[in-house]
Amino acid sequence: MYYSSGNYEAFARPEKPEGVEHKSAYFIGTGLGALAAGCFLVRDAQMPGKHIHYFEKDPVPGGACDGYKYPGVGYVMRGGREMDNHFECMWDLFRSIPSIETEGVSVLDEYYWLNKKDPNFSLCRATEHQGQDAHTENKFNLSDKAQMEIMKLYFTPDEDLYDKKITDFFDDEVLNSNFWMYWRTMFAFANWHSALEMKLYLKRFVHHVGGLPDFTALRFTRYNQYESMILPMVKYLEAHGVQFHYNTKVTDVRFEIRGTQKTARKVVFEKDGQQDEIDLTEEDYLFITNGGNVENSSIGAQDKACEFKTDIQPGGGWDLWRRIAAQDPAFGHPDKFCGNPEKCNWMSATVNTLDQKIIPYIKKICRRDPFTGGVVTGGIVTVKDSSWLMSWTINRQPQFRDQPKDQCLVWIYGLFSDRPGDYIKKPMRDCTGKEICEEWLYHLGVPADQIEDLASHSANTVPAMMPFVSSFFMPRRAGDRPDVVPEGAVNFAFLGQFAETKRDTIFTTEYSIRTAMEAVYSLMRVDRGVPEVWGSTYDVRDLLAATIQLRDGRPLTDMKMDMKQKIALKEALKKIEGTDVEKLLKEYHVL
Ligand SMILES: Cc1cc2nc3c(=O)[nH]c(=O)nc-3n(C[C@H](O)[C@H](O)[C@H](O)COP(=O)(O)OP(=O)(O)OC[C@H]3O[C@@H](n4cnc5c(N)ncnc54)[C@H](O)[C@@H]3O)c2cc1C
Repeated sequence: MYYSSGNYEAFARPEKPEGVEHKSAYFIGTGLGALAAGCFLVRDAQMPGKHIHYFEKDPVPGGACDGYKYPGVGYVMRGGREMDNHFECMWDLFRSIPSIETEGVSVLDEYYWLNKKDPNFSLCRATEHQGQDAHTENKFNLSDKAQMEIMKLYFTPDEDLYDKKITDFFDDEVLNSNFWMYWRTMFAFANWHSALEMKLYLKRFVHHVGGLPDFTALRFTRYNQYESMILPMVKYLEAHGVQFHYNTKVTDVRFEIRGTQKTARKVVFEKDGQQDEIDLTEEDYLFITNGGNVENSSIGAQDKACEFKTDIQPGGGWDLWRRIAAQDPAFGHPDKFCGNPEKCNWMSATVNTLDQKIIPYIKKICRRDPFTGGVVTGGIVTVKDSSWLMSWTINRQPQFRDQPKDQCLVWIYGLFSDRPGDYIKKPMRDCTGKEICEEWLYHLGVPADQIEDLASHSANTVPAMMPFVSSFFMPRRAGDRPDVVPEGAVNFAFLGQFAETKRDTIFTTEYSIRTAMEAVYSLMRVDRGVPEVWGSTYDVRDLLAATIQLRDGRPLTDMKMDMKQKIALKEALKKIEGTDVEKLLKEYHVL
């Protein structure tokens, strides 16, 4: 497996790898990573579809990428996916997956046309004082000291960030800025999370710094991601004869370790209460999605709170990873991630409006009509003064293909599930759907005497608790996650958010799909480059633009300097006078 960039490799099709028709593939899980790997096996490795088998513990595919209507409970989207034009592996895949909406076009075409015609941007990024615009005015409000803290982290070697927290690098200068409010609510970072991942994010998305405050950086699918991404992949795989086995829990995998050579030999699974197993030969390839950020999640209902389930049980992603990790040091350290759910849980809730009474409050804030079919809030609206640190968003409506046209689905999330609310004086994790809706209506600016009535009769709200949702952000070091294909692995790979690959950032659809492409290309010896992570961090234009954007447009020459620094700057400017360097710095408003 090697990385490449540019059109030559992007448009080339690999030759069929030798002997692939004698090989089979087994997947644990049907998340985005596993489904993507199946698609790469079919499209690029040209493995016959009927040789591919999926074992999924849930009754439906998709894992974290969900979107369902639970009978008698309501619509649930545990999450909504903000995406980027530089998700290189993802778009490489979706150009080949037929849309299930429009005949003859790909999922990529559909997405590209939609986001061209209806680009995303927000008209109100944050509110305070019950529905008043917080007027962040697209500003980061970073002091010179805060900018230096960010810059320092940016250039700190990974090794120096192992097991370190963000607060080891940022103090209140950063943490009290608009920058941090935008950042932590957009990406769900907490102050105690990994400084290493924070740095990787800064580098990975440096080309988007200017688009962070108003979300011009983002793109969204037409419907929820289960319908817009998972279903087309499943249809594609089924059309190729791929076998799906749902309600099938894999409880153990046994490896044979001989010196440095590691071979997966047995998969133990449970279906309908019956235990069974499959022996693997060296021609049988096993793809394991280890861990899982929606493991143990639970949903409540309009009148029911969620359960906060932290017990790790056999047949789930964490228990399986623990059993695997116990067999070889190269298989990682799951407890680093799942060991402290108090530090990595948060909650979301899906509000389904049932009549038009809540709509005017929404319109007043987002300044758009939710029923046009186009962008509504254009990304999250953060309630700056919410004790739960609540944000909410309305994506293009309808979000579900069967959703009634006059109903609107709102996604709410709160980063602090353990703190009492501002209107409902209970922690979010103890609240029913109705109570979460009341807290949201309070922050929308609904008068107190109408809140209870609107939450009861004008909406149905379903909460979701995800005890491990940010587990991949826990401080870590090299070796805590197994490599996608560990050294010496003969017939297996790890996929998803807890497999290690270079430079890319977790909590993204791209990360899961990248690990899938790397796994398939490595194990099947597909002779075509995997697109490298977008290289904006090596592009001086992006670096200059981001530097000035973080300074809210102020040139570097405006920085506070002592006499010595002023003299040094003057001398440096003299040296570049009349050169292309000076031209570039002026073009990007550095001078
Ligand atoms: C709330 C939320 C918001 C998100 N927001 C964004 C966003 O804004 N932008 C973005 O790019 N990404 C976002 N993501 C991330 C993205 O959706 C996920 O990273 C991605 O879907 C994970 O896919 P995966 O295949 O790696 O893992 P998973 O989806 O976790 O798949 C693992 C699968 O394995 C199955 N499984 C586990 N153990 C077993 C077992 N023992 N036997 C059988 N099956 C098993 C599980 O049931 C599951 O189906 C978000 C995710 C969530 C949850």
